[in-house]
Amino acid sequence: MPNTYDIAVIGSGPASLTAAIYTSRGAAKTVILAGSNWGGQLMLTTEVENFPGFDHILGPELMAKMKNHAVKFGSEFIGADVEEVDFSRQPFTLKANGKDYQTKSVIITTGANARWLNLPSEREFIGRGVSSCAPCDAPFFKEKNVIVVGGGDSAMEEALVLTKYAASVTIVHRRSNFRASKIMQSKVLNHPKIKVIWDTEVTEILGTDKVSGVKLKNVKTGETRDMPIDGVFVAIGHDPNTKLFAGKLELDEKGYIKIISNSKFLISNEKGEEVGNRFSTMTSIEGIFAAGDVHDFRYRQAITAAGFGCQAAMDALSWLEEVRP
Ligand code: NAP
Repeated sequence: MPNTYDIAVIGSGPASLTAAIYTSRGAAKTVILAGSNWGGQLMLTTEVENFPGFDHILGPELMAKMKNHAVKFGSEFIGADVEEVDFSRQPFTLKANGKDYQTKSVIITTGANARWLNLPSEREFIGRGVSSCAPCDAPFFKEKNVIVVGGGDSAMEEALVLTKYAASVTIVHRRSNFRASKIMQSKVLNHPKIKVIWDTEVTEILGTDKVSGVKLKNVKTGETRDMPIDGVFVAIGHDPNTKLFAGKLELDEKGYIKIISNSKFLISNEKGEEVGNRFSTMTSIEGIFAAGDVHDFRYRQAITAAGFGCQAAMDALSWLEEVRP
């Protein structure tokens, strides 16, 4: 039947495309509902140096390779946004481009978007001095001076990663205390390479072809000044793309999809003690799995998303084969 699938993958970043490679190679009829802007966060990245097997590749090129790989093994790729989901009965129904797609199982990989400061110059400098990922981009700032914007755990982590490369790291925070955990704060505040500028906002990013400085404003005094700088790491949080699933799947308090340890699938040891769950990527609805940044706010790397995509695919394949009536 047209538009009837074993597995529908919603999203098109590394989690999605890895999942689709595994499910289509696993002989499951697979559709990728990729979204109208396919490829996820790597489409906004320039150089990638930490994806195994690629010591240097452009983000969009890596995503094109993953897409071709998934399509080569038989996945159908549809560049449309899913507008509505009905998870209340089997087969599940997904509506995209005005068409209904019926599927026995779903893998959700809709990712999360980094929050940005929304300054006019910010987008223009992404990949040219502005970044939201220190593990990805810190090595490009060897012996340079950088700032990190934010006061949560992400900002602390980004700053600590950057100290391994940069000559100096300055955290610019809009208040006079951090919201990060005490342990992370203490690492940062005791680090000889890290300075903090409190009560201050970045109001503009300066430069011509790449970042050369920022405009800062003290929110208490109103005083403004320019600060020369080579890199700006924005670490003010992420928003998971889960609006579509609100009220349909369990989400955590920040809107990330919850992985649920379904009591039907517990694994016990010989003493009868629970040691895990057969489906480590299953959501609150059986047959619906989640992978990548839509669930994982901790690692947020292309390679971890790909790994979670593989897990979700293997879970979906075995659920279809062994559990679904
Ligand atoms: P977060 O905790 O929401 O912190 C965001 C930070 O950015 C806050 O300090 C906030 O300032 C600031 N901010 C927000 N919008 C801003 C804007 N427009 N301009 C300037 N500053 C702005 O986000 P997160 O740090 O990404 O952490 C998210 C979750 O992941 C947290 O639960 C965190 O604990 C967890 N996490 C844990 C680890 C770890 O365990 N190592 C690592 C990373 C993340 P205000 O404080 O003034 O609101």
